[in-house]
Amino acid sequence: MAKLETFNDPFDQFMRKLPEPNPDIQTLRVQSNEGVITKFKNLTADTYEVVITCPEGSHKLCARAGQYGTIKVEGIQKPRSYSFAQTPERENENEYTFFIRLVPGGELSAWLAEKNREGEKVVLSGPMGKFGLDDSAKPMVCIAGGSGMSAINALVQQVEAQGIARDCYFFYGAREQKDLYLQDELKSLAEKWPAGSKLEFIPVLSEEPEDSDWQGPRGFVTQHVKEAYLDTGIVSGDNLKAFFCGPPPMIDHGVKVLLEAGLSNNDIYYDKFEDMRSPAPVIDNEKCVLCDECLMVKATEKCITEATNFEKNAEGQVVSFERVRPGHTSGLYYNALFIDETECIRCYACIEACPHEAISPKYDPVPKTLRQY
Ligand SMILES: Cc1cc2nc3c(=O)[nH]c(=O)nc-3n(C[C@H](O)[C@H](O)[C@H](O)COP(=O)(O)OP(=O)(O)OC[C@H]3O[C@@H](n4cnc5c(N)ncnc54)[C@H](O)[C@@H]3O)c2cc1C
Ligand code: SF4
Ligand code: SF4
Repeated sequence: MAKLETFNDPFDQFMRKLPEPNPDIQTLRVQSNEGVITKFKNLTADTYEVVITCPEGSHKLCARAGQYGTIKVEGIQKPRSYSFAQTPERENENEYTFFIRLVPGGELSAWLAEKNREGEKVVLSGPMGKFGLDDSAKPMVCIAGGSGMSAINALVQQVEAQGIARDCYFFYGAREQKDLYLQDELKSLAEKWPAGSKLEFIPVLSEEPEDSDWQGPRGFVTQHVKEAYLDTGIVSGDNLKAFFCGPPPMIDHGVKVLLEAGLSNNDIYYDKFEDMRSPAPVIDNEKCVLCDECLMVKATEKCITEATNFEKNAEGQVVSFERVRPGHTSGLYYNALFIDETECIRCYACIEACPHEAISPKYDPVPKTLRQY
């Protein structure tokens, strides 16, 4: 998409003499550190444990279990989102652990999988996202798929560390036995689980060969939760909190199953691992109150921008627009906030941050602007 970087303001010449605005000013809640990959280990054939170490005295990038950060590597234009896989308390000072899975056709995960990446420099930014533990002691159903193990692992570590006696059924959906990992660590966490309650880890395999020695459950993980736990009354929708992490279709099905079992939306917490196949969110400027919350958490410098002079094609899609730099408009909104889908990494942090439901991937992509100049 062609973008114009010109300024139509009548005070253009005068404004150009002002000092350049600090690009960080719009992302105060998200800090960035340079770091180095100091551990790179295969957890399975296509999933890697990656530890990034940042310099002494650098920003603390994870506030609590369940949050995520973005990783940017040299040679790849945009960063990608990754959940912190351990509670901040379990990490060594200035270290951050991630579980990253190779996505077929994916750029950053393929870069990672190409060879041992220890010693590579990266830029790590965070914290982002609202996913995390609730403050009740209700039994938990946790469901993770693939690398969704990361955030759920951090969550169960936090329950154990807090010493809250609450039963936790941790379901993990994988294809085959060879895709399972972290089983020993979860076993030892279960042994330390707060007295009077239990952590049960239940892997469910969807593509395990029929004739293998696998004795555990088979099929889709969310279906197993329904048939073997909800329908039988082992867990009850009346007294339960649910936490999901992983691919969007797994979460969509899991949410449906749990709502049918009587949970309300307030009892269900999830982080969908969206990627470039997901739609970019859209800002509805008729709902936007210009509170700037989305700008405080945006994942890339140019993903959300003040824009004007949209040019559209016959279908109404934006083919070009003029980017307005807020530092040069005296705090007055020139026209409209706009998400540039070519800069967006589909982290959906802005959707979670918006207090007015003004951002959604379901909104009409034709910009509804406040003013046209
Ligand atoms: C909140 C959050 C947390 C996450 N946490 C984790 C985690 O802990 N671990 C983990 O492994 N992943 C996690 N992810 C997913 C991660 O951010 C990346 O999306 C994933 O690693 C793929 O990145 P990639 O660069 O390899 O693939 P990309 O290059 O981004 O491509 C992803 C897929 O989209 C396709 N694609 C690329 N461009 C386009 C396009 N223009 N149109 C259509 N299709 C396209 C590619 O072929 C590929 O199949 C998380 C995502 C979110 C949003
Ligand atoms: S526009 Fe929103 S979803 Fe896209 S990268 Fe920026 S913060 Fe993330
Ligand atoms: S957070 Fe929502 S209401 Fe606030 S500026 Fe962004 S889109 Fe507008």
